[in-house]
Formats: sequence, structure tokens, C-alpha cells
Amino acid sequence: GFTTLGLLAGAGAGFGASAAIARRQALAQRLRMALRAGRPTLAYQPILRLSDRRMVGAEALIRWQEGGIAIPPDLFIAAAEEAGLIGDVSVYVLHKVLAEMAETLRARPGFQVTVNISVQDLLDPGFAGHVASALALHQVAPRSIGFELTERSTAQRHDIAAGIARLRAAGHRLYIDDFGTGYSSLAYLAELQVDAIKLDRAFTRLAARTDHAAAVLGPIASLAHSLQLGLVVEGVEEEAEADFFARLAPCALAQGWLTGRPMPAADLLARLPDEAEAAA
Ligand code: C2E
Ligand code: MG
Ligand code: MG
Ligand code: MG
Repeated sequence: GFTTLGLLAGAGAGFGASAAIARRQALAQRLRMALRAGRPTLAYQPILRLSDRRMVGAEALIRWQEGGIAIPPDLFIAAAEEAGLIGDVSVYVLHKVLAEMAETLRARPGFQVTVNISVQDLLDPGFAGHVASALALHQVAPRSIGFELTERSTAQRHDIAAGIARLRAAGHRLYIDDFGTGYSSLAYLAELQVDAIKLDRAFTRLAARTDHAAAVLGPIASLAHSLQLGLVVEGVEEEAEADFFARLAPCALAQGWLTGRPMPAADLLARLPDEAEAAA
């Protein structure tokens, strides 16, 4: 019967695909319980302006441990998307960012925290309203919270334009994450109407490759510039990479091990310059 079939699927023999689906469903179910219990935490990774190396913001990244073992976000985010649970994740992360960072965001109008969202959030007509009331409750300006959406997930999704437009009209900046891995056409990128692209770390790595660096990265930087898109360089690990991009795109921002490992809110706050200095 059904149970036997389930066991067979779990054992894998000839049922590899369905076993994988069952595992992801089980993972999503555990994530649902973890969210309800408030267990996942956030880590913040500093984002610096390359021209003066000042911290202008941070990305919020979800962290979830079960039984002392860290479960990689790439794994459970995909499971949450499949299970229709990603909206709950996005709202959870937004609320946690506001709980941990509202005071800082109110005191520093130039500082922005970005939250990763998914296509499902943009298709949810209630999402923008929910964001607006959460921010109003904490008296945080929309400009202080940005949203990231992976390039791969946006491919050929012409139905997300309205969702993007709603968030931007409210005053949020929108970022295309992992740019370069999703094969967007130029026309589509121009049509998307976002504020900036985050260059995937596979491209950042080319900076050290003298044979490819200028040929591949030059056109990407000028494309961003001519479309009036901001550029955030992801996965910056080496000083040489930061130098390369500082020369190529002086207005660009950088994020990576070099700017700091993802860290708890308290550690991020300790790294902020004091407000008098920030205002100068
Ligand atoms: P992402 O949004 O592109 O986040 C950047 C990822 O690169 C993070 O991995 C970060 O720890 C890692 N990273 C940062 N700097 C470097 C570096 O210099 N070198 C290397 N090798 N890696 C670096 P993480 O935290 O494991 O997240 C992986 C992905 O999971 C994220 O990619 C994002 O797509 C997703 N994710 C994480 N948190 C959330 C969330 O709260 N909501 C949603 N929807 N997705 C999330
Ligand atoms: Mg991201
Ligand atoms: Mg990324
Ligand atoms: Mg990524």
C-alpha cells in the first residue's frame, strides 16, 4: 500500500527523484516548525563603497541549525519555494531585521539592509502592503530596506513587473542577485526596472585573471552604467579584486569575505562608525 511505496521511495531504488522530493518536503515541514518556534537567526554581511571603503549597508542572510548542525540556505530555501513556504520565510526575515536593526536604521538614513525575496513574494498582491505596515510599525523608512531577487528566478517572468513596481513605488531599492548566472538578455534586463545588479562571485573571480578580466568585466560595468543600474560586486575575497573593481567602476559597492564574514547584528553594529563620523 501507500506506506510500502513511501518506504521504497525512501530507500531510493528506482525512486530517486520522488525520494528527493519527499526529503525536501520533510525539510520544508521542519522549517515550518522552526519558523513558528522562532529558531532561525540572521547573519549580516557588510557592504562597502569601493571608493572610500565605508560601510553603506548589509545583506541579511538566514541561518538555521537543527541539532547543532547548520543547514545550508541554498538547500532549505529551494525546499521552501517548492512547498509554498517562502513567503513565510521572507516575512520572518523582514520582521527579524526590523526587530534587530530598526533603531540603527532610524538613526542612519543612509544605511540599508537588503532582504532576499523570491518570485512568489512578488506575485503575492499582499506582500508590499505587509512590508509597508511592518516598516510603519517600526518607523523605518522604505529606503532603509532593499530587496534582492536572483537573476535565475526572474528569467522570462514577465509577470513579476507589477510586484517589482509596487515595491519600488513604495521607496525600496530592488537588486538582481547572482547576476551573470541567469542568462538574461539585455532587452529583458532593461525591461526589469530594478535599481542595481549584484555581480555573481564567479565573475568577481575573473578580476585576477589578466587574460579575461578587462574583456569580460569591462562590458558588464559599462552595461550597468549605461542602463543607470548600480553595481554591487559579490564574493570579494582578495584585495586585488577590490582594487580591480575600484578602478573599473569607482561607484560600485563590494561584499565578500574581504568586507566581512556574515555576522550577528551586534557584531555588525560594533563595526559601524559613530553617528557624528557617519554624518561628516
Ligand atoms: P546570496 O543572496 O547570493 O548570498 C551570498 C552568499 O554568498 C551567502 O551564502 C554568503 O555567505 C556567501 N558569501 C559571501 N561572501 C562570500 C565570499 O567572499 N566568498 C564566498 N565563497 N562566498 C561568499 P549563504 O548565506 O549560504 O546563502 C546562500 C544563498 O541562500 C543566498 O545567496 C540566497 O540566495 C539564499 N538565502 C540566504 N538567506 C536567505 C533568505 O533570508 N531568504 C531567501 N529567500 N534566500 C536566502
Ligand atoms: Mg542575496
Ligand atoms: Mg548573490
Ligand atoms: Mg547566491
